[in-house]
Amino acid sequence: MDRRFALMITPVVAETVRDDFDDTFQQVDPSAPALSVGELSTQRGDGVFESIGVVDGHAQEVEPHLERLAHSAALCDLPAPHLDQWRAAVARAAEACPPGEAVIKLILSRGVDHGPTPTAWVTAAPAGDFAAAREHGVRVVTLDRGYDSGAAERAPWLLLGAKTLSYAVNMAALREAHRRGADDAIFLTSDGMVLEAPTASLILRIDGRFVTPEPTGGILRGTTQLSVFEHLEGKGFETVDARIPAADLAAADAAWLVSSVRLAAPISAIDGAPLPIDRAVTDDLNAYLLSPR
Ligand code: PLP
Repeated sequence: MDRRFALMITPVVAETVRDDFDDTFQQVDPSAPALSVGELSTQRGDGVFESIGVVDGHAQEVEPHLERLAHSAALCDLPAPHLDQWRAAVARAAEACPPGEAVIKLILSRGVDHGPTPTAWVTAAPAGDFAAAREHGVRVVTLDRGYDSGAAERAPWLLLGAKTLSYAVNMAALREAHRRGADDAIFLTSDGMVLEAPTASLILRIDGRFVTPEPTGGILRGTTQLSVFEHLEGKGFETVDARIPAADLAAADAAWLVSSVRLAAPISAIDGAPLPIDRAVTDDLNAYLLSPR
């Protein structure tokens, strides 16, 4: 793909006072090899990442993404990222983005086996075309995530609230959804509570209120969901974080999967049961999400 960009970062210690990080950045050819074969991100998926939406060169919701990167790093016992350094790297990547929609990825890996520092890099590339999902919606199936609603608290080493590089399970769930004739999935706990999609947060509208599964640590707190709720509250709608039993999915009169790059994809069917698309709300959400935030 043309106009890609990659920047290797030498992480500096979080408390370091500096105004300029240029000497810690090295722009590299994004199509050339850049990582060591001893890299733990590629060997074990041992690291954390963020995907930031970019619209006409403006990186969206940078602060919530940086805060979540720091939260994920803390959950994984990785050194705290220096947020000014990452902010500067995001600004460099945003300058390299083509007009229209793009995506900036931030990656912080545990580094090379027995190596001295974490490995870190930022990339930028044009976003995929999500017009069809935003317009016609996505059909979803519910899939068992294989743990119960107490797992995050009982077993924090599962890293359920961290955005780690270990996305093989999420990708396998999407393939299973496709095998079942759907476009996407909604994960359920083994005791039947609604969680999230493999790469998006879920918002349901039930009795006029917008509801999302409460962030108990078993799901990733979505930056897009938080931003959408703020927008809806500004318009006078009620929003709630709630424990949602799977049976309540049938009570929704509209629903969306929301994420930083695809934005708001209305759900057109759940487990084969059609769900109407609220055109006006969907278009309003996507217009909002495409505006500078
Ligand atoms: N949940 C999961 C598992 C995700 O991977 C993502 C995004 O990639 C989200 C939720 C949505 O997060 P955000 O809105 O910050 O993109």
